[in-house]
Amino acid sequence: MRTVIAGNWKMNKDLPQAMDLLARLAAAAPVGDVEVVVAPAFPFLGQAVERLRGTRVAVAAQHCHEAAGGAFTGEVSAPMLASLGVRFCIVGHSERRQYCGETDALVNARIRALLAAGITPICCCGERRAEREAGRQQEVVGAQLREALAGLSAAELMRIIVAYEPVWAIGTGLNATAEQAQDMHAFIRSVLRGLAPEAADQVPLLYGGSCKPDNAAELFACADVDGGLIGGASLEAASFLELVAIAHRCKQPR
Ligand code: PEP
Repeated sequence: MRTVIAGNWKMNKDLPQAMDLLARLAAAAPVGDVEVVVAPAFPFLGQAVERLRGTRVAVAAQHCHEAAGGAFTGEVSAPMLASLGVRFCIVGHSERRQYCGETDALVNARIRALLAAGITPICCCGERRAEREAGRQQEVVGAQLREALAGLSAAELMRIIVAYEPVWAIGTGLNATAEQAQDMHAFIRSVLRGLAPEAADQVPLLYGGSCKPDNAAELFACADVDGGLIGGASLEAASFLELVAIAHRCKQPR
């Protein structure tokens, strides 16, 4: 199984700050086989690809539109991202669901657009606090995934990454416990198995939500946690690279 550590910079860092962080990541020695991905804001994607060329760090976008092009002011398409050399794209992040009206149907359309453009979608799912308190977390995440991944072939499913990000853990400092993460990741694996048995064991399942160097080892040690989608701790080179090193220690050899 691949191990992936992806940093979601969200709407943080101006150009000099972004270039500084990219330079620090580019200078760091590669750590094992961990796939390292960073998602700067749209304006810096082209420069990020250039700055990281020849390193083992790949570039992700944080969003894309589902259409290949046209009259969608302010939007960016998957073919545009591909033409820059962007290799991954986050889809269905809870912040885009909450603030930008991203529905499961849109997530599905965007995943299809990304796959058609040769970009790996990082498909986010996760329940809200009230849903977990009501014991509905599997119902919610299962429904999100079944709609987001509807109609994809096994070959297409093998090309995606899923990130489980409980909404109550994002940016709150309150991470899921290892047990909560493992339970949900095993459930997600079973949902994927129901969609395409041959793909289920190929799809990296990332945990996201207040994942930091001091809690990452127990999360990454879980059998079905194949890495992390990292927000706050991806904004500093030291903490992000430490997470890459922890993932390497927890997941090698597999
Ligand atoms: C995220 O928003 O994807 C995320 C995981 O954020 P944080 O690590 O800051 O909780």
